[in-house]
Amino acid sequence: MRIAVAGAGIGGLSAALCLARAGHHVSIFERARALREIGAGIQVTPNGAAVLGRLDLGAALDAAAIRARAVVPTDGHDGRAIARFALDQGRFPYRFLHRADLVALLARAATEAGAALRTDHTVTGADPVVGRLSFAEGADVAADLVVAADGLRSVLRHALTEAAASFTGQVAWRAVIEDVAASPEARIWMLPGRHVVTYPLPGGRLNLVAVREQGDWAPEGWDHEDDPDILRAAFADAAPELAEMLARVTRVRRWGLFRHPVPKRWHTDRLVLLGDAAHPTLPFLAQGANLAIEDGWALARALEGDGDLDSKLRRYAELRGPRVRRAIAAAQANARNYHLSGVARRVAHAGLGAIGRVAPARFTARMAWLYDHDITSEWPAT
Ligand SMILES: Cc1cc2nc3c(=O)[nH]c(=O)nc-3n(C[C@H](O)[C@H](O)[C@H](O)COP(=O)(O)OP(=O)(O)OC[C@H]3O[C@@H](n4cnc5c(N)ncnc54)[C@H](O)[C@@H]3O)c2cc1C
Repeated sequence: MRIAVAGAGIGGLSAALCLARAGHHVSIFERARALREIGAGIQVTPNGAAVLGRLDLGAALDAAAIRARAVVPTDGHDGRAIARFALDQGRFPYRFLHRADLVALLARAATEAGAALRTDHTVTGADPVVGRLSFAEGADVAADLVVAADGLRSVLRHALTEAAASFTGQVAWRAVIEDVAASPEARIWMLPGRHVVTYPLPGGRLNLVAVREQGDWAPEGWDHEDDPDILRAAFADAAPELAEMLARVTRVRRWGLFRHPVPKRWHTDRLVLLGDAAHPTLPFLAQGANLAIEDGWALARALEGDGDLDSKLRRYAELRGPRVRRAIAAAQANARNYHLSGVARRVAHAGLGAIGRVAPARFTARMAWLYDHDITSEWPAT
């Protein structure tokens, strides 16, 4: 098929790679002039690594990433590690890397597989019945299938849903700090109504994402410059080690976290949703990109099956729907658990500490549905 992918983000590029390898004629249309990812880290969890490994990207990922050893829930007031759960015991690695490196790696693999990447193409709409994409820059493109991978604020999603996003009452900041020596662990610094996640990136950098509950609205989209002092003031009572990291932040972005209902239907005659365009998730489980990578594999496999295009696309959505909904719910639950206060906080931290001491495998077992899921075995290429 001639497949037009809208958006060269993590989902669009993964899908393009899988589809091109499956023999389709793939073009990717990206609004940016160049694939220039904003400075930030990303966690590629074992379920995403399973797909990227099967696509022969394991070695390239290792060259660009740090392998994670553990996740460490930490008391954000006194800096005490409440527990330490291993992340290096599974079948597939858990990695920390720079988003730009992941995007570059996927773009290289997709183009080597034959996909054509067209930057400076802003998609303005698609005819969902005949599969025609239109662009702000002019000249429509016809395709047998349009893959809408245009992210969180997808324009193409409107072909399937008009449901509005709602503000979660949480704002987030992200920053990268230079010249930091940190162990290969993700630390979750928990404070009442707030938390900070830190993890190292190659090149002596540290990625930091901070979240605070707040009633008033902040804009969505994660490229709004903010004053680092506002971030520091929000965490003025942080443990000395965290306060020291925050003191080193020189540039920070802030944005509002919104909940987007997942549409019931993910496809029309010739258009299908993928990644954040289908199922944006809150960033509290590090799954948005990993699920988008899984989507790319699933879509390519669904198209290999028997039947007409409608039944193939339905099968893709039916397979992905329950899993992404479960991940979205789990991410939402994490926000609640990280932000507890008073007695609930003390009880939860004591419980977490006890699991960490006597039965850390319980944590691993609780996450098995997510991390141990290997969509490439469940749905192998034919
Ligand atoms: C701070 C933060 C940390 C995160 N950390 C993690 C993590 O550790 N692990 C994880 O799995 N996920 C993480 N995520 C989520 C993850 O980044 C997204 O879920 C993932 O990038 C979704 O991929 P996508 O391809 O659907 O969208 P995107 O990667 O956002 O790509 C969309 C692409 O479409 C392009 N585009 C948009 N509109 C148009 C248009 N009209 N025409 C043409 N092109 C267009 C955009 O320029 C972009 O290149 C994080 C998110 C945030 C905000």
